[in-house]
Amino acid sequence: MYDVVIPTVGRSSLPTLLSALAAQDGPLPRRVLVVDDRARPDTALALGVGGTEPLCGRLRVLRSGGKGPAAARNVGWRASSAAGGAGAEWIAFLDDDVVPFPSWAVDLSRDLDGLAPEVGGSCGRIVVPLPAGRRATDWERNVAGLETARWATADLAYRRTVLERVGGFDERFPRAYREDADLALRVVGAGHVIVQGARVVEHPVRPADRWVSVRLQRGNADDPLMRALHGPRWRATSGAPPGRRPWHLATTASLVLAVVAATAGRRRVGGGAALGWAVLTGDFARRRIAPGPRTRDEVVTMLATSLVLPPAATWHWLRGWATLRSRLRAPGPQPIRQQNGLPAAIFFDRDGTLVHDVPYNGDPARVAPVSGAREAVDRVRNLGIPVAVVSNQSGVGRGLIPQAHVDAVNARIEALLGPFAGWFLCPHAPEEGCACRKPQPGLVLRAAHRLGVDPSECVLIGDIGADVQAAHAAGARAILVPTPLTRTEEVALAPEVAPDLASAVESALGLGGRR
Ligand SMILES: [Mg+2]
Ligand SMILES: [Zn+2]
Repeated sequence: MYDVVIPTVGRSSLPTLLSALAAQDGPLPRRVLVVDDRARPDTALALGVGGTEPLCGRLRVLRSGGKGPAAARNVGWRASSAAGGAGAEWIAFLDDDVVPFPSWAVDLSRDLDGLAPEVGGSCGRIVVPLPAGRRATDWERNVAGLETARWATADLAYRRTVLERVGGFDERFPRAYREDADLALRVVGAGHVIVQGARVVEHPVRPADRWVSVRLQRGNADDPLMRALHGPRWRATSGAPPGRRPWHLATTASLVLAVVAATAGRRRVGGGAALGWAVLTGDFARRRIAPGPRTRDEVVTMLATSLVLPPAATWHWLRGWATLRSRLRAPGPQPIRQQNGLPAAIFFDRDGTLVHDVPYNGDPARVAPVSGAREAVDRVRNLGIPVAVVSNQSGVGRGLIPQAHVDAVNARIEALLGPFAGWFLCPHAPEEGCACRKPQPGLVLRAAHRLGVDPSECVLIGDIGADVQAAHAAGARAILVPTPLTRTEEVALAPEVAPDLASAVESALGLGGRR
């Protein structure tokens, strides 16, 4: 059985969607939870006139107060859990601008029927009808990108228990952008699979004005958060297209340089920069005009927006960086808490904790686990608690070892100590001032987020004061296992100290004595 959750801002497409649901060939959803995300609704939500009677008794309207689609969907699925009885096994998310095919409900039941327990989600297929007889405009091509997008929440069903475990959508993503990839990455990171279903929804291209492509650049502000939460390779792991950010940055930099140089009377520099800007902007406009219909209106739109779009993209991206720290401090997804008192995950420092510290080691042959490491990590694994590594690898940022050598060493560690649910590495040099290098909390927060657990339920085991500080800054518990190289004041300051890895693990599990 499944519930449908539809976040909406009251668009006129909502009644069309509800009529299409009411007219399904097959069994209707247990409940249809429409979440009104208008900040200050001055009118009742328009649900449509006639045609939706079959939904009578199943349809509920909730409110989420304008906090964005992530927050609205959370209100919806949590209500499904709370509302009477056991809650539906599956939550099917639909956006308010799709139209399910008449066989959608039948196909969804078939998609979900008999899925293996490790399957946490099932994607629907999205088709975007494009006008026949002419080429698609830039906006139409943009919407058509949904057809190939991975994990688009326009039609995605998740197992309710999986949503509970990872805490649902991360409400720090305020708009319909990246919030779906973020959730999917956490679901996959928590060990679940997301499969492709056979059901289909149509996603019409709604009319938009000339400036829609510029407004969409606001999404750039969410990319620094994605990077902080999922690491520098988040685009590849989430299947996001590469985007044109390097070009937008270069275009904007040329423009800024041209203006600054002209103001300072440096005409040659200014002229050169202006030429660079003109070439980049012209090339950008050409790339957007070439595949399109080339009507006068479309060409004017492309020329005008191509001037504004690179600086807008750059501005929003910089804004994303400027607000990153405060966004990371805001509460993330809140998983339904574990009942049995065991930690939700245990993180291990690498050098000096799991393996003997060989500074800037790039050689797998020099990996030597500390004694009892395999048994200690296995002890945690066997309880079903995820284990991960959080490690500063500034040798990369200092140019002392290539990332590939670090990866080779980590592969060797996995060969000796068994698989880890995640490797969270900070490659930066200290002077880069990143948010992930311990004692900063970034790595711990990222690891908790990716494993779908709350940092306050995690324990970090490490060998120096920076490990302890990073854990505490992230709200996690820390246990120090000093080596002869650990400074005595760091040992004195640590609230919890264990003589070796085995007793640190017992202590983390709440089974051994604390100091
Ligand atoms: Mg260490
Ligand atoms: Zn870092």
